[in-house]
Amino acid sequence: MEPLDQMYQNLGIDRRVLSLAGEVEASLKERFLEIDRTAEYNQLKVLSAMQKNRVAEAHFSGSTGYGYNDMGREALEQVYADIFHAQSALVRPQITCGTHALAVALAANLRPGDQLLSPVGKPYDTLEEVIGIRESKGSLKEYGITYAQADLKEDGSFDYEAIERCINEKTKLATIQRSKGYASRPTLSVARIGELIAFLKSKKPDIICMVDNCYGEFTEELEPTDVGADMCVGSLIKNPGGGLAPCGGYIVGREDCIEQAAYRLSSPGLGKEVGASLGLNQTLFQGLFLAPTVTAGAIKGAVFAAALYEKLGFPVYPPAAAKRYDIIQAVDLGSPEALKAFCAGIQAAAPVDSFVTPEPWAMPGYDSDVIMAAGAFIQGSSIELSADGPLRPPYTVFFQGGLTWYHAKTGILFSVQKLLEKNLLSF
Ligand SMILES: *Cc1c(COP(=O)(O)O)cnc(C)c1O
Repeated sequence: MEPLDQMYQNLGIDRRVLSLAGEVEASLKERFLEIDRTAEYNQLKVLSAMQKNRVAEAHFSGSTGYGYNDMGREALEQVYADIFHAQSALVRPQITCGTHALAVALAANLRPGDQLLSPVGKPYDTLEEVIGIRESKGSLKEYGITYAQADLKEDGSFDYEAIERCINEKTKLATIQRSKGYASRPTLSVARIGELIAFLKSKKPDIICMVDNCYGEFTEELEPTDVGADMCVGSLIKNPGGGLAPCGGYIVGREDCIEQAAYRLSSPGLGKEVGASLGLNQTLFQGLFLAPTVTAGAIKGAVFAAALYEKLGFPVYPPAAAKRYDIIQAVDLGSPEALKAFCAGIQAAAPVDSFVTPEPWAMPGYDSDVIMAAGAFIQGSSIELSADGPLRPPYTVFFQGGLTWYHAKTGILFSVQKLLEKNLLSF
């Protein structure tokens, strides 16, 4: 037996699982080459931005207190702006998560009486409370900002007529979510986002187009700001942090939009000038430098999971053969037992907390119990191998991350193994 197979068997993976996985992996050679080429392109993009901005050791010493004149923070923000071909960026540890970054970008650029539009259907669960779709203290709705939504058509295409009906003189900002999140609609490619933005601007030239870019960074050669987005927003404990960023979020885009966001994040009058980097600059630079490679590993994991679970007869979104625009793989597991077993497998494969069993709980911001598996170096980091899913039919698991392809693969093998042990597979 191959030493590698022996190693997997020592970890408890059944011979049948290994043999099936071997077939699947062999069939993905071409796909993986394509993913590597995108990573290579993005690696050069990141490298060029760092060189252009003359990143140097002096940028790695952080600031404390007010954080005035933090050279490293300013260079990091300019590097982000350049990677996104944008004018300006806010990249801060003080942005606590992706939801916070989105809430800041929205609240900063909307005023009472304005209307916010989602032309791509229901936004990510936590945004419902930010917007006030679900009653919530401090929502945009409480500040007199209204919300309109045009759902995607049955086939996932944009409903241009419905979008046009939503647009009026009050429509100030459109929020476009790139990744499917917890929905079963397709993830939007940057090209499709570009088409949507062109349509929105043709109907209302001054509409601000904001893209929720969570999980999408570096999955393609272009980012939404390359096709007309005024702002792109995301979390540093997803793709662009490269697994190293311990916290933080970013907002990148048009100068005036970012300036508004800075005044909202800190204070009117202070804006970008304050915000100590607390010794995190070096880590945020290094994580960004690794991000294209780490993202590629995560995409390989997603494609591999899709192919393997498809072979096992489960409905998967996107299908194995589909092009990828984010790192999320959804699998309909069909029962709470299977969802729990899958998550137990991911947890058992983790480098941290591998000995615990994930249980469903009522997570803040989500409207049904959620089960989450994550044995991460950074708490809650979903660029690290993680799986989660709301406890509601069809018991879909959303699988993502893996700091290396090898670890993503191991996690997927463990998930299949747990399903096998619970007699939830027929092979
Ligand atoms: C993760 C995510 C968010 C929210 O980010 P948090 O960091 O969990 O607050 C928003 N939108 C999408 C599409 C996401 O994937």
